[in-house]
Amino acid sequence: MNIRSLTAPNPGPFTLDGTRTYLVGDRAVIDPGPAIESHIDAIRAALPQLDTILITHRHGDHAPAAIPLKAATGARVLAPRNVLDDSVVDTRVHGGEVLALDDGTLEVIATPGHTNEHVCYLTNDGDLFTGDTILGSGTTAIFPPDGHMGDYLRSLETLRARTPRRIFPAHGPIRDDAVALIDEYLAHRRERERQVLDAIAAGDANVAAMRARIYPELDPRLAHAAEIQLTAHLIKLVEEGRAPAALLDR
Ligand SMILES: [Zn+2]
Repeated sequence: MNIRSLTAPNPGPFTLDGTRTYLVGDRAVIDPGPAIESHIDAIRAALPQLDTILITHRHGDHAPAAIPLKAATGARVLAPRNVLDDSVVDTRVHGGEVLALDDGTLEVIATPGHTNEHVCYLTNDGDLFTGDTILGSGTTAIFPPDGHMGDYLRSLETLRARTPRRIFPAHGPIRDDAVALIDEYLAHRRERERQVLDAIAAGDANVAAMRARIYPELDPRLAHAAEIQLTAHLIKLVEEGRAPAALLDR
């Protein structure tokens, strides 16, 4: 399928160079992005026949432009639960659906983890639109309780099992090394989990102590975000009976 991208003018620490909106074929857009007028105008100019708007998850840098785009074009909106309001979304997707587009098909794959409702879209050519489940550079933030590390790792395994060809992330560059990138993501989380287990074995009594051990030279402004990632790992280990729940109380 013919895939083009437009980057929204919303760069930042979590959005990298901005949200990447994908134009798939001549009629569909994936993650239209934030409701910024110049970005919406660029989507309309690039896709004069737009009739399908697909969304990966509810975050404000992915979904809101669907509202003005639908109002202007009458395009149908397909999105998982929790995304926008029922007056905007025509069809709720759950995973397993195969959608016909103008020059191919897109399968919906449920990928909870970054958020509970997150879905990815896989073309019949093996091109995978990963939203925030896999980024083109760096790692994905998991913020519990909506974000869930156990679900996230299972979702990465689900995507790997489909042996995608290319990854089209919502942030960062397009990747031709899809399976290798997923393997890197899995290895990174397994390594972090091992560090958390080592910190527990060494007697760290709370997440702040683990953060000081695991990220000794971290910019203090990032300390809170790092502790949330470690908490996400710890919740997974507690759920699996591999760490004491008391570590989460302190
Ligand atoms: Zn997100």
